[in-house]
Order: sequence, then C-alpha cells, then structure tokens
Amino acid sequence: MRPVDKGIQPYDKISDYNEAKPYLRERLGDYCSYCEFPIVHIPEVEHKESKSKGGEWLEWKNLLLSCKYCNTRKGTVIKAGDHDKWLWPDEHNTFLAFRYDNGMPSVNEEFLQSLQDGSLDKAKNVFRALKLGTIPKVPYDDCRYMKRMEVFNMAQDDLEVWKRHQNDDNEDWLNQMLKKAKLAGFFSVWMTVFQGETLVQQKLIEVFTGTDKKSFNQNGEPVLRNGNFL
Ligand SMILES: [Zn+2]
Repeated sequence: MRPVDKGIQPYDKISDYNEAKPYLRERLGDYCSYCEFPIVHIPEVEHKESKSKGGEWLEWKNLLLSCKYCNTRKGTVIKAGDHDKWLWPDEHNTFLAFRYDNGMPSVNEEFLQSLQDGSLDKAKNVFRALKLGTIPKVPYDDCRYMKRMEVFNMAQDDLEVWKRHQNDDNEDWLNQMLKKAKLAGFFSVWMTVFQGETLVQQKLIEVFTGTDKKSFNQNGEPVLRNGNFL
C-alpha cells in the first residue's frame, strides 16, 4: 500500500467534505489510498473513521481518497475511537506492511511480527476489511484484481526491456515508461517488480503524486518512518 504525504490541512474551514476533494486529488493523485487503483472517473472522499459512526466529517486528518470497491468494503467498520486499530497510508509506511509478490497483495507477516508493536494485527485488520486479496469468481464483481494483474504483466514486460537496454542512452524510453506507470497506477506493483533497480524506483517515487518520500531511502528502499515504527 503506497504511503502518502497529504501535507498540512489546506483549508481553514469547509462546510462539506466534498470540498476537500480537489485538495486530496492534487496532493495524492487520482489513486485509491488503499488498493492503489487509478481512479479514472470520480474518486470518493474516504473517512478513515466512518462519518456515520462518529468520525470527523471535515477534518483533513480523517480524509483520504478511495475507489468505489474499497469504500464499499470498508463501509462503516471503523468507528470514532478505532483509529489505532488500523495502519494508515498517510501515517505509516504501509509499503512495508504488505507484499506484492506476483502482483498479489499479502500481509508482510514475518516483518511485522519482528516489530512486536501490534502492527501485524493492524495490517491484518486492514487487509481483511478491504478484502485486498480478493480473486473474484466473476472478474467484474471486483475489478481491482483484474486491473492489478494487467499492470503486473505490463511492469514485468517493461522490466525485461529495461534490463536489455539499461546501459544504452534510453532516457526517453524510461520517461515513457514512467508516464505509463503513472497512468496505470498500482505503485506498489511497479516498485516490487523493479525491486533492486534503484534508478527506476527513485523515479517511481517521484512521479506518483503524493508518495511519502520519508518512507524510502535515497536508493528507493522502504525504511521505517518513525524510528523503530512503521
Ligand atoms: Zn481501492
């Protein structure tokens, strides 16, 4: 899950949470904050603590962007006060919390267990509630899987081309690929496929609007954000 940097609250006062949407889109790009789906139509403003269960309606710190799939699945399970039972992409290095081997998300159990700070349970809560690992029987019941696998295959093809030509003067090709990746979404899939390819990873962190730079070192490797914590 891509860690994001929303920055400080960009408004003094709003009267409808949808007024926050342009700011969220500008800061985070048009991606679902949870599944990383590129939202080509209209992203939904997501309340981390559900607005119908006491969560803040208008506070910047309670807002993210979400696709229809994730918003529907999360529903109202997080009520006011439940904030600390989850990991949040705008607060934690969620890239370390999940793996994307072969394009499929899973909880990074071994790593989170080693932290011994409750992150493992929080990551499991997120994964379960959002049904991030769903493989739908009918593809159009949940397009997140199909779209993510398309992007995974695309990224793998690009990795092959990159490996063959990375020593050539291929800046144009790299820029084209980055544009495509930005449109295709699923940052974590690209980062995983290009693991170890420092230049590409650095560029991916740059081009995906809103990616939290504190969550990665100069080589594009994920790092703990707050000392020993995610
Ligand atoms: Zn989503």
